[in-house]
Amino acid sequence: MTYEYRCRKCDTSFDVMATLAEKAAGLQPKCPNCGSKQTAQVFGMVGVLSGAGEAGRGRGSEPRPMCGAGMGPGCC
Ligand SMILES: [Zn+2]
Repeated sequence: MTYEYRCRKCDTSFDVMATLAEKAAGLQPKCPNCGSKQTAQVFGMVGVLSGAGEAGRGRGSEPRPMCGAGMGPGCC
């Protein structure tokens, strides 16, 4: 699982890979930027907050194989 954390000191957000067991044990990752442990998990799905465009493009939407292959305006 990947969790998104944010540093309270320098406001850097970063992703942390951890197992559920590690998470349950009270994961407190260090900030990769300043080394502080003043970090808090950012709730919400990773990819929605930080990469809305990425998430919307790939999964969840049907591929449009015909787009861009000579279709008229309004295709997309
Ligand atoms: Zn920091």
